Amino acid sequence: MGRLMEDVPMDGESIDQLRSVLRGEVITPGDVTYEQHRKVWNGSIDRRPALIARCGGVSDVRAAVRLARERDLLVAVRSGGHSFPGLSICDGGIVIDLGLMKGVRVDPPRQRVRAQAGVLLGELDKETQAFGYAVPSGIVTHTGLAGLTLGGGIGWIMRKYGLTVDSLTSVDVVTADGEFVTANEQENADLFWGVRGGGGNFGIVTEFEFWMHRLGPQVVAGPVFWPATQAHEVLHFYRDWVRECPDELMTIVVQRKAPDLPVIPPELVGQLIIGVVACYSGEVAEGERVVQPLKEFGSPVLDLCVPKPYLAHQRMFDPSFRHGNWYYVRSCDVAALTDDVIEVMVEYGQQITSPVTSVALWQMGGAVARVDEGTTAFHGRHAGFTFNINGNSETADGFEDQRRWARRYWDALAPHHTSVYVNFLMDEGEERVRQAYGVEKYDRLKSLKRKYDPTNFFRLNQNIGPT
Ligand SMILES: Cc1cc2nc3c(=O)[nH]c(=O)nc-3n(C[C@H](O)[C@H](O)[C@H](O)COP(=O)(O)OP(=O)(O)OC[C@H]3O[C@@H](n4cnc5c(N)ncnc54)[C@H](O)[C@@H]3O)c2cc1C
Repeated sequence: MGRLMEDVPMDGESIDQLRSVLRGEVITPGDVTYEQHRKVWNGSIDRRPALIARCGGVSDVRAAVRLARERDLLVAVRSGGHSFPGLSICDGGIVIDLGLMKGVRVDPPRQRVRAQAGVLLGELDKETQAFGYAVPSGIVTHTGLAGLTLGGGIGWIMRKYGLTVDSLTSVDVVTADGEFVTANEQENADLFWGVRGGGGNFGIVTEFEFWMHRLGPQVVAGPVFWPATQAHEVLHFYRDWVRECPDELMTIVVQRKAPDLPVIPPELVGQLIIGVVACYSGEVAEGERVVQPLKEFGSPVLDLCVPKPYLAHQRMFDPSFRHGNWYYVRSCDVAALTDDVIEVMVEYGQQITSPVTSVALWQMGGAVARVDEGTTAFHGRHAGFTFNINGNSETADGFEDQRRWARRYWDALAPHHTSVYVNFLMDEGEERVRQAYGVEKYDRLKSLKRKYDPTNFFRLNQNIGPT
């Protein structure tokens, strides 16, 4: 088994040996770029690996895995580095960093795209939109495609086209013993089931292949904001309005202080607001008709829900989740926006103090819920809404207060919790991972783990232990 390596320095010979075979780069604590490369998106995570292997391709990944195995090193695997709890970096040990692996190939006649593990969401969108297509993914373009896909992948077009994993057709994987396998419906189908929600538990995915869907380039999308003092009325209206809406419409309710951005009028910046952000994955004229009641409700203080390029909408949340801020998240699914849930939202939304703290309430359902629950390892297809309660600060200053607020908000929702999306977990222990998959799927995932990674070589993840 691996171990923390603070007390076990990497010997020069092993480092030189890896350096001599890697197409990419080997970085150790003495190197000038070490500080840059040990950083992850969440500024509250501060870890110092013994070695970072920036892999240039599959052969580099295999070499790094073999070295880690021979030397009994703790292994972290990093693609986009956006794990909320910092699972892609370790103290001591080796980081197998896939960030250099950026290849994307769009194949329009087959309506497929292949993407290497280091690709970020915005990079994939840019390539697919150049041909008028999109793969369902997430809502912040600097998130890694790999970690997001391996957990399931929820985002703006999921209600029309399903989760990211519902469009996944094949993966290339380097296993714990350094072997290279392909998994899809025909080959290694059990592994293919597991990687569609089971995270990095079974191996390192080096490349993904997806179905693409026709989209845009223009979509009707964007936020409508009201003062937080009107949250009660807005949420009651919203609940009734989305109940009958078509699958093309996806919405996220946002609670926060209006951010200091060029699109926000200066008098609104810093004011507590409630917003409904929409994205319509269909004809622009039809989208305008569908969002009209939202735009007409009450007296919005800002309405940016208009036709725009899908790529621009995808970037909308990027500045709200800058690299280096201190982030803490609590998450849960709820079945419905009941009166009680709305009361909790109203109460805690008015207590937000940090300019970078926010709540996102995701509307689920549509195509996500029409796939049979057993088809993929992702669990929770019948969730009504998913809460993402982000207690954030710009530095360590005040972080503890934000964390406390997020926990209190989440606790207040406890009577309504159903499941939880695995990619929105912090480091919350085995019971929460079990909740994320449900007991039956968790057991199936455990037996898959015994087959593909019996020593728990890949354990810096939302871990599904073999025993
Ligand atoms: C700002 C922000 C926005 C987000 N928005 C969304 C969203 O819209 N929809 C959504 O579904 N989720 C969203 N998430 C959650 C996101 O899906 C997870 O944080 C995801 O793990 C990030 O992937 P990554 O590659 O950037 O992460 P990393 O930190 O690199 O990795 C995360 C985990 O996956 C493992 N892993 C990474 N790459 C591989 C690989 N190639 N093979 C095997 N294991 C691997 C790592 O070891 C680690 O355990 C968001 C997160 C953030 C921080």
